[in-house]
Amino acid sequence: MANLTFDEVTKKFRDGNSEIVAVEELSMEINDGEFLVIVGPSGCGKTTSLRMVAGLETITEGDLRIEGRSIKGRSPQERNAAMVFQSYALYPHMSVRENMSFGLKQSTDLSSDEIRKRVDEIGDVLDIPELLDRKPDDLSGGQQQRVALGRAIVRDPDVFLMDEPLSNLDAKLRADMRTELQRLQEELGVTTIYVTHDQTEAMTMSDRIAIMNNGKLQQIGTPMECYYEPNNIFVGGFIGEPSMNFINCSRDAQTLSTDDFDYEISESTAMELESATNIVLGIRPEDVVVVPEPTEPNDIAVEVDVVEPFGKENNLYLIPRDRESNEAVIGTVNGRTRVESGDTVGMRFPEEHIHLFDGNSGVALR
Ligand code: ATP
Repeated sequence: MANLTFDEVTKKFRDGNSEIVAVEELSMEINDGEFLVIVGPSGCGKTTSLRMVAGLETITEGDLRIEGRSIKGRSPQERNAAMVFQSYALYPHMSVRENMSFGLKQSTDLSSDEIRKRVDEIGDVLDIPELLDRKPDDLSGGQQQRVALGRAIVRDPDVFLMDEPLSNLDAKLRADMRTELQRLQEELGVTTIYVTHDQTEAMTMSDRIAIMNNGKLQQIGTPMECYYEPNNIFVGGFIGEPSMNFINCSRDAQTLSTDDFDYEISESTAMELESATNIVLGIRPEDVVVVPEPTEPNDIAVEVDVVEPFGKENNLYLIPRDRESNEAVIGTVNGRTRVESGDTVGMRFPEEHIHLFDGNSGVALR
């Protein structure tokens, strides 16, 4: 069991004459027993962050600590961190039992009997006792992933490091394994860093999410905090499907103006914006209220351009009628709502649900 600290960790790679900053001044603390998911688009530095903890990559600047002690100088073997990869990396010529025992034989002085007992125990925990004598080739993808997990668990590590471990599984199995991994992690209580670009995995499995972009940490918080209180435009747009709507506005006192409409904000909201005049209004599709026709001052007359039916809900692509731009706003409504492409309706943004960002820096202002 261990807590883990990233202290202004930077990783630079040389690529010919140029320098790539893969991770920039990353600072965060992962609590003992916590399940932290690092999420972000391809190339944002997730895997590099994980590999630095594992000792597979050196740190250019900053420090990494487990239980307050720097692990920078320690070899991968000395770190007691177990890594599970996307490719299961099982040894094909060894049985499941041998695959699971291999690391223990290398890194501990446990007797063969003790190792056998431990592998049996973990086989039971993972519900794979009948697979222990098989070879990896005779297993399904899901079973192989379970063995890869088993191999990590038997080592009784301080930290689990998982790099997209479910991405080779089909959708149904992935969903099952998500629940199982979560249960297992809770049961074992091992501090875990889990890397994915899949926001569903991030939202459903984690205690907290760390969202990265361009090598930089954008926000770290519970899934609900990141969803409801995004720090900036990037986080608002990255978490949530369909994505948050963003509308560029210029502000004069309490009026936000777009090419298509004006939106009046309350005095207290205007105060929070201080002197900012270049504003991006963000609203999640499920917070857009669709009414039969505009009745309130801030309501906007829109035409339904496209209806995307998902059964329990529909996504409506709404375009302001007096439009200058062709930007659609997506509104999610109950699947039973009778609305068709070409209908004219009213669109409402309840003020308590709007997000306001600084148009220059992208930072959330409220
Ligand atoms: P993905 O989701 O695609 O795996 P990622 O978020 O895990 O991406 P990293 O693999 O950490 O991203 O890569 C971060 C940046 O560092 C990328 O620009 C990548 O090209 C670069 N990079 C990673 N490893 C090396 C390396 N060994 N040499 C040079 N550049 C590298």
